[in-house]
Amino acid sequence: MTLITVRPEGLYCEAGGFFVDPWRSVDTALITHAHSDHARSGSSHYIAHHVSQGILRKRLGDTIDLRGVEYGEKLKLGNTWVSFHPAGHVLGSAQVRVEQGDQVWVISGDYKRCLDPTCTPFEVVPCNAFITEATFGLPIYRWQTGEATCREIYDWWQSDLDSPSLLFCYAFGKAQRVLSELTQFTDKPVYVHGAIHVLNEIYRQVGVKMVETISTSEMPRSYKFKGDLVLAPPSAHRSSWMKRFPQPQTAFASGWMAVRGARRRRGYERGFVLSDHADWQSLVNTVLQTGATQIYVTHGQTDVLSRYLTEAYGLNALPLKTLFEGEGDI
Ligand SMILES: [Zn+2]
Ligand SMILES: [Zn+2]
Repeated sequence: MTLITVRPEGLYCEAGGFFVDPWRSVDTALITHAHSDHARSGSSHYIAHHVSQGILRKRLGDTIDLRGVEYGEKLKLGNTWVSFHPAGHVLGSAQVRVEQGDQVWVISGDYKRCLDPTCTPFEVVPCNAFITEATFGLPIYRWQTGEATCREIYDWWQSDLDSPSLLFCYAFGKAQRVLSELTQFTDKPVYVHGAIHVLNEIYRQVGVKMVETISTSEMPRSYKFKGDLVLAPPSAHRSSWMKRFPQPQTAFASGWMAVRGARRRRGYERGFVLSDHADWQSLVNTVLQTGATQIYVTHGQTDVLSRYLTEAYGLNALPLKTLFEGEGDI
């Protein structure tokens, strides 16, 4: 029996009458998390974990019909029971568990297994069928802890206190993870681009601890950010926004920094490997821990991971093609 199928609109559960992270407008959309490749506007009804609500409303509009649920809370949708479980990816991120009769399917959404002080750790949810992401599904991807990488970021910042240190990273999730880890190393304020500033406010409202942050736009024109750490989204790199910072040192924090040449191609002086996705070993371990015998692999390295799970573990693993195969959240 197949509880979840792929339709032009996205992953669909016919028995429950809902889609998960649809890329087109539908009636009922369950949203794993608020990154833009998963949460799209135009659907009639949304259901997501309640701490996602602030960011979802900011991104999709204040007037959307959005129901917030707790982790583990059971909802009766059509002929199914549905619940959301922590994915450890970003604030409010969830896996979606769907149960009908003796069948349990879990859609992972984006997830990671490294600890992240800004979100609830990933929970292994036993199931018959598991739909996993594979953004970094190659053995070359191996992450150290976020704490270790943020220690490197702190040391890089301290290594040149005569210049502004501009760290580029994804505005939702990555920036707040860095700001939270930095509380272990410093109590100095960190300056942030406006796109990060508005999201930080939402994080603070739900109680996430981060270093003090100041929006760069609040500083007088004459201020030169000498010896300061400044966080900005990648879209600000080489934009006119950078004119405020004379002779900065620049760096990029992303899982893609593990790829040789990626830093230089993008024009950053330093690269820090920091990802909110599972690395290769975590993907494999997670699949095995769920106990699922049927695996569908979506996003990224779908062929490599599904072939490995089939050959090494005898699992029935197949790639699941999604419409969106871009870089997504980095
Ligand atoms: Zn994501
Ligand atoms: Zn994603």
